Amino acid sequence: MKRGIKYLSALACITLAVSSCVDQAVQAQQNPDQDIVDLISRMSIEQKVGQMTQLNLDVISVGEIYNLIEPHSLDEAKLKNALIEKHVGSILNVGGHAYPLDHWQEFMKQIQQVATEETSLKIPILYGIDAIHGANYLMEGTLFPQPLAQAATWNPAQVERCAAVTAYETRATGVPWNFSPVLDLARQALWSRVFETYGEDVFLAKTMGNAVIRGYQGEDASDPEKVSACMKHFLGYSIPFTGKDRTPVYIHERQLREYFLPTFEAAITQGALSVMINSGELNGIPVHADHAILTELLRNELGFEGVAVTDWEDIMKLKDNHHVAATLKDAVEMAVMAGIDMSMTPNDYSFTDLLIELTHEGKVPESRLDESVFRILKMKKRLGLFKTPLSFKVHEYPLVGSVQHDDLNYETACEAITLLKNDNERLPLKKKTGKKILLTGPSAHSMVLLNGAWTRTWQGTDPKYNDESKLTILEALNERYGTDVVHVQLCTLDELDATKLKSIIARKGEFSEIIICLGELPSTEIPGNIDDLWLEAAQRDLVKGLASMQVPMTAILVENRPRVISDIEPLLDAVIMAYQPGDEGGRAITAVLSGDVNPSGKLPITYPRYPNDLITYDHKYTERLNTDFSWTAFDPQWEFGHGMGYAKIALEEIQLSKDSIQGSENITITVTVNNLSVDIDQKETVMLFIGDRVASITPPIKRLRAFKKLDLPPYGSEKVSFSISAKDLAFVGTDLDWVTESGWFDISIGDKKASFYYTAE
Ligand code: BGC
Repeated sequence: MKRGIKYLSALACITLAVSSCVDQAVQAQQNPDQDIVDLISRMSIEQKVGQMTQLNLDVISVGEIYNLIEPHSLDEAKLKNALIEKHVGSILNVGGHAYPLDHWQEFMKQIQQVATEETSLKIPILYGIDAIHGANYLMEGTLFPQPLAQAATWNPAQVERCAAVTAYETRATGVPWNFSPVLDLARQALWSRVFETYGEDVFLAKTMGNAVIRGYQGEDASDPEKVSACMKHFLGYSIPFTGKDRTPVYIHERQLREYFLPTFEAAITQGALSVMINSGELNGIPVHADHAILTELLRNELGFEGVAVTDWEDIMKLKDNHHVAATLKDAVEMAVMAGIDMSMTPNDYSFTDLLIELTHEGKVPESRLDESVFRILKMKKRLGLFKTPLSFKVHEYPLVGSVQHDDLNYETACEAITLLKNDNERLPLKKKTGKKILLTGPSAHSMVLLNGAWTRTWQGTDPKYNDESKLTILEALNERYGTDVVHVQLCTLDELDATKLKSIIARKGEFSEIIICLGELPSTEIPGNIDDLWLEAAQRDLVKGLASMQVPMTAILVENRPRVISDIEPLLDAVIMAYQPGDEGGRAITAVLSGDVNPSGKLPITYPRYPNDLITYDHKYTERLNTDFSWTAFDPQWEFGHGMGYAKIALEEIQLSKDSIQGSENITITVTVNNLSVDIDQKETVMLFIGDRVASITPPIKRLRAFKKLDLPPYGSEKVSFSISAKDLAFVGTDLDWVTESGWFDISIGDKKASFYYTAE
């Protein structure tokens, strides 16, 4: 444990120093966290274990767990038992659904009051929540596009602004800890949490992850408008072999280091204050019990000094789900000794009681508790909780749910929406006078589908908590086109009304456009598991049926993950990927359809053509070999990075500062991007891909190494330069170290190509 050991030994030395009467002022100068060291020295085992316990809000609320009495209120006796008797240090979640701001503030006051006035040590509570696309459990909260959609903006500055708003609105409730960003890579399209990620590519996900952390934590997380980030889920969670959530993952250590670790490494460098552990097993070992991952890698090698919290009931799952512990007590010992700091227990005190027993029995050394409690208290201090447990008492939050936040939300949704197909420039809509727009499909009039999971409820499926002022696609189109829009509900998510379809087909002469809003029910984690990546047959049948009208058709995809539509794609003139674009999604989709906004989103993930052909863009050469022995097997529906605009963009030839580089030299790669349209602004993302032609580990065809989003006025032109060094070209070799080998490297930017030679020193 590199840095971990450093500060632990510092902790021990300083404790000794206290007893050896060294001047306290000098010590404080030596160790800025002397106050925490002192506090820990006054804590009992029970109080230490309490700090390591995280409870679900339900446990201290009126009613039964998962069945609280409405309206929500705290149960004074349960609250006092948790905080005073059990010394609990952290609480999470909501009792089933979002609350209004005044309710949040009221019960957070009650909690912090007991913690800071009625407990003997007066340590504030660290409250955590999953605000992954905005303050999702706050009724007035701004609900941005889901992370996958945010990644599709390819605009880290915009994503950082959204994160800053999320931090502001979350802190307004009294909550200083956000369980976000998800830094797992979406390299298995079936997985139920694809929408929570920043896509399949390491470079993109790490850039977006860092932007989010900057937005959440700012320069100083004690700022009343900031919260702590929580990197999750460490490590290797997102690529289950079966595609089902929390099922086994097998990743060779080389791949783990090259693909799945860098987002976390970058986030640690960015200063993320906490991490949540992968709930599943990796290479046969549940990560919550894996000392090699949680201590040797996370602490000793990466030097992470923040708090490691378990995922939901994951210590219990070592016994009940993973079968690596015979008893719960063994499970607690395993997880604590592996390196977790805090247990999201969260519905009882079993962890707390058993860890106290284990410590008294000497099976868990008290020094192990000290290490974790130090990290937890330090995080509370970094968040300013000791001074100001509730920032809303000293700071105003007039912008919660404000028009400014809505505007940012709308802009972000507009930048995310990705035009995948636009045959014969079908879009923007060219409505014929006297003809109508037929609007149909299950996502045409649903805020639930636009927002996805982690939206005012966990799965996001209860329309009761929608913000009535927000517009569905239907409502936004009505606002834009009035009575020219004819909405007919022909199909639910999984059932087609054949009779209604027949009668609409008979009216084909009335319409000049058909807009079909397809989609998927919001879901996440295990409830989001699916057996088949095809979009529901009923929805594909809807498209097939409508095709007989021979009216131009545009499909809008509102999806958790890219669902296969290859049988209906040829029937569609235009296709828009909307992802789950959030509360402003209806307006943004309408603006793109009408041409009020020029689309600029690009896929952060490969859109597959077949359910059993899930190949990422950065695949190996052998994955291209087809049945006829041609190299054409990589044939996704749409490639990673694909996305069209309404303007015509042309790239000039790539210019290189030199033909070859050596050692640590840099090469500058320059391209000029031209907007050929005379009257359309175009935001355009330039992506630099580089492929290693020959390497000792089979090289991927290409890897994203840099990108930049430009804003080109009509007829505008911009020169973009990327500076690349050997470090940017490296891969993880057989000895698990990063290496760049001598040889040719092939560059591609759009349709332009170039090559250079690198000589290692
Ligand atoms: C999820 C985490 C989430 C936690 C708390 C878990 O089930 O896997 O991502 O942060 O619940 O809600």
